[in-house]
Amino acid sequence: MAKRTIMAAGNWKMNKTPTEAVEFINGLKDIVTGCNSEVVTAVPFVCIPGAVEAAKGSNIKIAAQNVHWEASGAYTGEVSCEMLKDLGVDYVIIGHSERREYFGETNEMINKKARAILDAGMIPIICCGETLTQREQGVTAEHVRYQIKVALLGLSAQEVSELVIAYEPIWAIGTGKTATDEQAEEVCAIIRQLIAELYDNDVAEKTRILYGGSVNAGNAKALFSMPNIDGGLVGGASLKIDAFEKIVKHDQ
Ligand code: PEP
Repeated sequence: MAKRTIMAAGNWKMNKTPTEAVEFINGLKDIVTGCNSEVVTAVPFVCIPGAVEAAKGSNIKIAAQNVHWEASGAYTGEVSCEMLKDLGVDYVIIGHSERREYFGETNEMINKKARAILDAGMIPIICCGETLTQREQGVTAEHVRYQIKVALLGLSAQEVSELVIAYEPIWAIGTGKTATDEQAEEVCAIIRQLIAELYDNDVAEKTRILYGGSVNAGNAKALFSMPNIDGGLVGGASLKIDAFEKIVKHDQ
């Protein structure tokens, strides 16, 4: 079985102007040339054209942080998959806990988005994760399994083997409180086991499962070395070139 390529994906959230985005990508691209990880930056919609242009010829891939599932129409303020694909976007983050919490996104919506992203020839990064209360009440596994089960409804084995899942415990996002390597590994292994149940072992071995939640230059190496963790979705630490570089080059 071929080894899964580690992914270091930065999620900028609502940070950086288009000008700052271009400066950042220009600064990052030479530094990460030839590294072993796949490097992705998820930038705000308005930063995408400049970021794609700046990343041309480098090994940095550009992601969006959200998308609408409909192809076009009366959806004021929304952006379609075709629009993102046309700009040169490779990945789209869906189901981030901030979108679930502040914008009312449901598992069913995330499933529709995953379908539309794959149909457009891009790759979804599907986020899941429990609240602190859910963890304390011992329902983390059930909750995450349900989120992923619905998100993957109707997707083929081939599609699931190519997409990316990010396990992000909500209590660890932006709090500086990282899950322990063992806590993160445990849930990533549960997700891989679920994929094996829904599809088969071969698919489960190919799907990349990231950990997200206060990943930084100091903890990336240990987290990414766990058997079922294939890299990280990184918020705060992806906004500074030196910190993100250390995460990308965690193995050097
Ligand atoms: C995130 O935005 O997905 C995230 C994990 O943020 P942070 O790394 O800042 O916790």
